[in-house]
Amino acid sequence: MIVNAMNRTLITILLVLASMMAAGQDIAHYKRVIKTLSSAKYQGRGYAKDGANKAGKFLQKEFMKAGVDVVLVQPFKLDINTFCGQMEMWADGRKLRAGVDFSMREYSPGIHGTFPVYHVDTLNFDADRMFADLAKPENANCLVACEFWFTYRHKAAFSRLQKAGECTNAGLIYTWESPIKFFKAYGHYVIDKPILWVTPEAIDGVKNVRAEVDNKFLKDYECFNVIAKVEGQRHDSCYVFTAHYDHIGNLGRKIFYAGANDNASGTAAIVTLAEHYAKHRPPYDMYFIAFSGEDANLRGSTWYADHPVVPLRQIKYLFNIDMIGDNNPVQYCEVSDEGMRGFSLFEQINEREHYFRSLHRGELAANSDHYPFATRHVPCIFLENEKGDAFQYYHTIFDTYKTVRFDSYEPVFRLVRDFVEQYR
Ligand SMILES: [Zn+2]
Repeated sequence: MIVNAMNRTLITILLVLASMMAAGQDIAHYKRVIKTLSSAKYQGRGYAKDGANKAGKFLQKEFMKAGVDVVLVQPFKLDINTFCGQMEMWADGRKLRAGVDFSMREYSPGIHGTFPVYHVDTLNFDADRMFADLAKPENANCLVACEFWFTYRHKAAFSRLQKAGECTNAGLIYTWESPIKFFKAYGHYVIDKPILWVTPEAIDGVKNVRAEVDNKFLKDYECFNVIAKVEGQRHDSCYVFTAHYDHIGNLGRKIFYAGANDNASGTAAIVTLAEHYAKHRPPYDMYFIAFSGEDANLRGSTWYADHPVVPLRQIKYLFNIDMIGDNNPVQYCEVSDEGMRGFSLFEQINEREHYFRSLHRGELAANSDHYPFATRHVPCIFLENEKGDAFQYYHTIFDTYKTVRFDSYEPVFRLVRDFVEQYR
């Protein structure tokens, strides 16, 4: 009986293994790459601690191990503001938590000292009255606190508060929902006065703020895209799989943004796709490009689109995979004009195979690495699994290996695999 049971178990294991190999996707490998990329070793794949470049070196090895024919690196430079020193803040003497209660606007300089807080009256707002108030001696050297979207709607007034010589305020506090987010997209310059992002609860009614924050501006910092190639049967056209491997790095000395969903998930997906096609030779050449500098405003993909290793017109289709570490049964997509014929095929495949409940196509936007290709008329699709359980942690310190979801990996893998088989 024991032997029979063991045999049955063995057969079951072998059958499961065989079906996994036939399907091509390898979720264990996928998880391993996400776990590694989101570990402390890579410090949120930013710039101040070289995390992105270290992750890029790891990916070169991963692609080689996956069995691809060639791995190239494509260096490019960027200017980027970073926060890797002191990162402390107190509200009326109460210590706030970096990354939870507060973070920094990406283009903020550092800030050191204790400051009175001036709370903007958003219910009866009058810009002239605010500036008259701020001219009073008791408000000199204050931090002006206001809800972020309100400042966005009154841009002219609030941008004056960011410039030296316009007003006597020391800086600004923007409030935004908890947990606080952190960005890098506009980090290629530094403004005159500091801006702190703080949760509304943390600053409500607060009279004084002490902040000790260091920034470091990196000029001409060199990073690189990683390009892996699997040779197909034909070389006159190619398919391209892209995913960004950089993320937003550090907030102070201790905190790093792991970016397991954004975008260790997409990077891991293209590594396993490369492995699949290295084993099952595709009809056309295939390129797997892990971009750097995406969260710093699509820098790596824009550089590549201007300096492609094969002419862009040879791309039959490009698949940009960003943040698929989630579990929404409806898959979000964006498609370039030239990619619309292909999108019908995606829909046909999905209706037949039920990989996702449906595909939801949104308006094309400059929100990920497909965009520089879409504007250069490349047929392309952006696949992002938005608004599942992991999405709430987008650009927060909670986007980690613990909160990432693995549900969307197999359906995305199968969708693009079937597409490559059927697209003419
Ligand atoms: Zn991002």
